[in-house]
Amino acid sequence: MTESGPAETAGPATLRLFFALWPDDATRAVLNRTGKWLHQHWGGRRMRADTLHLTLAFLGRTPVEQLDDLAACAATVRADAFELILDRPGYWRHNRIGWLGASRTPPQYVELIGALNAALQAAGYPVDTRPHVPHVTLLRNTAGGEPQACVPVSWSASEFVLVASRTEAEGAQYEVIRRWFLMA
Ligand code: ATP
Ligand code: MG
Repeated sequence: MTESGPAETAGPATLRLFFALWPDDATRAVLNRTGKWLHQHWGGRRMRADTLHLTLAFLGRTPVEQLDDLAACAATVRADAFELILDRPGYWRHNRIGWLGASRTPPQYVELIGALNAALQAAGYPVDTRPHVPHVTLLRNTAGGEPQACVPVSWSASEFVLVASRTEAEGAQYEVIRRWFLMA
């Protein structure tokens, strides 16, 4: 007879993971200011400043024991650093999210997403087949409103990160667990 310990009954340890661009403090502050501004127009619930990010690829629940393999996979991604100009507030009705996007997506960004997804797919991880819209979520549960022109936010992206997401009483808590530099 095999013994079934607590770890076994609880299933394998997993983390809810995603790859992201993570703003530096100055960019975070400007994004947060834009969030406050959009909130005045569209209402809803503002994302906390410390959670602001741009999701590159969402993995979802992943066994902890796959972390090293996943990191090795991400380390194969070769992409150049770039500047992303976020100048286009947008609203999605289906999930009531208000976000900040880019009217021009830099080719280096497209290459980064392509390289990351290709590496993940080759290693057997799930990849999103829907068209990717680069965006920073600023508002949740908003009804949106009149289109707004905003002061562009310039984000100098020099790295991408792997983030673990935990749902706490005060909302999502994100922890950056790995980082990879983009090529200068
Ligand atoms: P919560 O779901 O607890 O309200 P959250 O949506 O911020 O908070 P996660 O669901 O862990 O946290 O999502 C982390 C990031 O991945 C967010 O940027 C979210 O928009 C994005 N994301 C979540 N699910 C998917 C998905 N199925 N496909 C693409 N991106 C996703
Ligand atoms: Mg979510």
